[in-house]
Amino acid sequence: MLTDTFYQAVENTADAVIITDRKGKILYVNPAFLKITGYKKEETLGQTPRIIKSGHHRSAFYKKLWKTILSGKSWRTTVINKKKSGELFYTDHTITPVKNQKGKITNFVGIWKDISQQKQLEKQKDEFVDMVGHELKNPITSIKAFLQLLEEKLTHNEGKRSLFLTGRINKQVDKLIDLVGDLLDTTKIKTGQLSFTREVFDLNGLLKETVSDMRISVGDKYHIRLKGKAKIMVIADRFRINQVITNLLTNAVKYSPDNRKIVVELTTDKKNAIISVTDYGIGIPDDKQKNLFQPYYSAHIETKSGQRFASLGLGLFISREIIRQHRGRMWVKSTKNKGSTFYFSLPLFQNPV
Ligand code: ADP
Repeated sequence: MLTDTFYQAVENTADAVIITDRKGKILYVNPAFLKITGYKKEETLGQTPRIIKSGHHRSAFYKKLWKTILSGKSWRTTVINKKKSGELFYTDHTITPVKNQKGKITNFVGIWKDISQQKQLEKQKDEFVDMVGHELKNPITSIKAFLQLLEEKLTHNEGKRSLFLTGRINKQVDKLIDLVGDLLDTTKIKTGQLSFTREVFDLNGLLKETVSDMRISVGDKYHIRLKGKAKIMVIADRFRINQVITNLLTNAVKYSPDNRKIVVELTTDKKNAIISVTDYGIGIPDDKQKNLFQPYYSAHIETKSGQRFASLGLGLFISREIIRQHRGRMWVKSTKNKGSTFYFSLPLFQNPV
């Protein structure tokens, strides 16, 4: 009765189970093993675990494995294996010797979990950290260089030049603050801790302020036009909506290096205010548009002249989440090499009568 229960348990567990004799000949594999590796039962019985060997471990690795289990101890590690299809997969692997009553090893039981997905996530995380490292390095290096120059200028008391340098340092520090802010916001979104302070305000007033700040920050190089003049009241977090508009404007500037016109428009339908930011820059191909709002996504589009853009891919993810939490929507219309329009809506404030 109990034997039957054990058998059913092993057959039904999600971890792969494999039993071999003392020499490594396979006597039993459970359905999870077959599912993960893609082999049929008859293709495994009588074989050795070599059928899933990936070639990614040195012979010393296997020597150590055999030495450990033949000495009667269990062996546990992460192993890279190969499916029947040739695809590699990671397992968290434990092999345990089974002894008879006289203490002699008769079999080995291998139990493993497929941890390929976990490994994939780790890889993505590593790539992300690497990218953040690079993004932080540039502003920090610039700050350092500007500070050295400033120190030199100050000792020679060159007022105007020093002021110019502090301006440059300020810009680089702003970049760092934005970067760290984006990282913290992303964590807040993922842990459900992004909070809002709502107030009733005029969206058009905010737009004017944000566009004016942007004009100061990009200087004469870009012509940012603001359409729509009427007062439009919404109930929202002013600071966060400013963050969304700034992000769309920053992207519009960044991704249109060769065409310096940007149009910001505020309209309404029956229930919503709708803001759009249009640029005439590099545009986004159709197949990449659906992923733009995923965290850490960058479309990696180059300009016609081959210019590339550094990108963490967090701005649009954060913006859409802010708008979603205000019961609004965010979407995009774009044509490659022609430009993009990013839209978002916010419910209009209905005055309670
Ligand atoms: P980042 O702030 O790092 O650029 P975003 O989340 O804001 O990241 O944008 C994600 C990706 O969407 C960018 O890497 C870029 O490829 C694409 N993108 C965003 N805005 C535009 C735009 N106005 N024109 C072209 N591509 C854009």
